[in-house]
Amino acid sequence: MLTAILQRATLALTPTSDSPRLDAEVLLSHALACNRSQLRLKTTLTDTQLSLFQALVTRRQQRIPIAYLIGQKEFWSLMLMITPAVLVPRPETELLVETVLHLISHKEAHIADLGTGSGAIALALVSERLNWRVTATDLSQAALDIAIQNATHLQLHHLTFKLGSWTDAFAPNDRFDAIVSNPPYLAMDDPYLVNTDISHEPVSALVADNQGLAAYQTITTHAINFLKPGGYLCFEHGATQAACVRAILQHHAFVTITTLKDLAGLDRVTYGHIRL
Ligand code: GLN
Repeated sequence: MLTAILQRATLALTPTSDSPRLDAEVLLSHALACNRSQLRLKTTLTDTQLSLFQALVTRRQQRIPIAYLIGQKEFWSLMLMITPAVLVPRPETELLVETVLHLISHKEAHIADLGTGSGAIALALVSERLNWRVTATDLSQAALDIAIQNATHLQLHHLTFKLGSWTDAFAPNDRFDAIVSNPPYLAMDDPYLVNTDISHEPVSALVADNQGLAAYQTITTHAINFLKPGGYLCFEHGATQAACVRAILQHHAFVTITTLKDLAGLDRVTYGHIRL
């Protein structure tokens, strides 16, 4: 019986989803409050579960991201609460976490995550380095509320959350070993913004002026005042933006500028450090 329901939902989701079968299974698991591996043991649905599932499928047909429909998304093996107030964490952003963990070797580092959204990067960092302190900022109080709830729920400490635009949220004497950010980087006219799942995500987390480069320019200009000698600035960026992000870092006297590729082989992270 569930097989037929799943097949019907898969068919219904095929025109608008890249992963219709997986989506159908995740939504059905959510409606049944079980995990995906338990699904095949289920044989019946109550009327309430069926109508919940059908409502979820209808919303998924409108390209609402799965993470918003089920209210969560896994990142760096942490299950995060996700709402439409925050960008859905992407797997490629894990490269930014790996990069910071690799670059900073001292035990008691102080890191900043600018535009933290759900808190994904900041939470992943403190989950790996229990002695680090991470300051996470966001312009959106609604986003910070989600990040704070995630930190509380995951019982992760050593985090400070600050409201404000990029480095404006810092105190004048804040100095960091690394500043990290996955800022908005899509251009306003990026065709990817229309008729895809991301049209439901906060535009302020996706789109930036200057062909998507504005946040890199602003952050780099100010980051220099808040880094310790030798401190790193690490960015996630779009696959075609490495040269521009490198040029911005170079212009502000960052050195040893390095670009790393994500698992799909696309340029995704660029970092540099200020001189010792
Ligand atoms: N990574 C987003 C996407 O490609 C773009 C914006 C961002 O993550 N900062 O959908």
